[in-house]
Amino acid sequence: MAILDCAIVGGGPAGLTAGLYTTRGGLENVTMFEKGMPGGQITQSSEIENYPGVTGEITGMDLMIPWPEQCQKFGLVHEMVNVTQVTKSGDIFTIHKEDGSTTDAHSVIIGTGSSPRRAGFKGENEFFGKGVSTCATCDGFFYKGKEVAVIGGGDTALEEALYLAKICSKVYLVHRRDTFRSAPNTINRVQNTPNIELVLNSVPDEVYGDAMGVTGLRVKNKSDELRDIEVPGVFTFVGNDVNNQTLIQDDGSFLCDMNDLGQVVVDLSMRTSTPGLFATGDMRQEAPKQVVSAAGDGAVAALSAISYVDELLNT
Ligand code: FAD
Ligand code: NAP
Repeated sequence: MAILDCAIVGGGPAGLTAGLYTTRGGLENVTMFEKGMPGGQITQSSEIENYPGVTGEITGMDLMIPWPEQCQKFGLVHEMVNVTQVTKSGDIFTIHKEDGSTTDAHSVIIGTGSSPRRAGFKGENEFFGKGVSTCATCDGFFYKGKEVAVIGGGDTALEEALYLAKICSKVYLVHRRDTFRSAPNTINRVQNTPNIELVLNSVPDEVYGDAMGVTGLRVKNKSDELRDIEVPGVFTFVGNDVNNQTLIQDDGSFLCDMNDLGQVVVDLSMRTSTPGLFATGDMRQEAPKQVVSAAGDGAVAALSAISYVDELLNT
């Protein structure tokens, strides 16, 4: 099989934009390895209002639907597979896949993003998918007209609490502090939504239920007082972990330099410490964790990959 000019790992906003710019920029042979449907984590968002030029109420899914089609028009191939590892020998990278097959490439752009973190309270894993969820757009409808709890105090928790408040009769927003780390406009909207009750300075202690699913959430405040919130649905939005597993080598080291948070160290051209490997989006150091910046990284990395491959093959 021919060696790819560029392998893109991950098909979120970063990977898709890298796909658009590499193919449209002249690389002949580019495959994007994405384990699911392209679009990335924003497809789980009920509303995005900060992507430039996109006005009106639009879901993350609506935003992302045209992106793969636009890339495919310029020749990007999507292989739906889970990449297990990326290695490099000499000048050639190898993409190792869950089905046991491999693909070689002259350059790699990685944009595997991040995944929702578990909060770590009792019952969370046991009831995951049976009342505990990390996706309001996926599961919110199951709780139409019912009460639910949301855990977290960042942009995701607040935005998803607002979304759930439109579907559910009441939303208990449980946060461990009394201030939020979210956009002021979002905080304002939450504070002015009558069916959102703020449960502040409180952490989840246990989610409990029966064979049918969750029946309640017990929270503990700073004075160790317990409160039972009787809800059939608990949504946790407590941050994300970087998906860096594909960069781990057989000896346990990483393919390139990483920082203490497990994010890939890059320069302004999205170059990593390994020549020919570029990192983009939520997984790179100091990522603003926005769709627009992930897309920007993808474009920058693509331009860098085009120069790298050109120099590699033509000098
Ligand atoms: P991701 O979107 O995480 O995409 C990574 C892709 O890589 C995924 O599709 C995944 O399936 C794939 N992948 C991972 N590992 C592998 C593997 N081993 N093999 C193959 N494929 C793999 N940002 C905003 O700008 N505005 C918002 O309003 C906003 N709202 C949000 C709401 C929610 C609920 C969430 C969760 C996030 C929100 N964000 C928002 C943040 C935004 O979604 C991310 O910053 C952005 O999606 C990051 O893009 P990415 O391409 O780096 O990674
Ligand atoms: P985040 O900003 O890391 O917030 C996580 C929240 O969960 C924090 O409030 C944190 O509390 C709380 N938390 C963490 N661990 C917990 C635990 N074990 N138990 C209880 N609470 C816990 O994560 P995010 O909201 O998912 O946002 C991730 C990134 O995406 C951010 O950079 C965000 O700005 C971005 N994003 C942007 C938008 C937008 O632009 N509209 C929308 C969504 C996400 P503390 O506050 O006490 O730390």
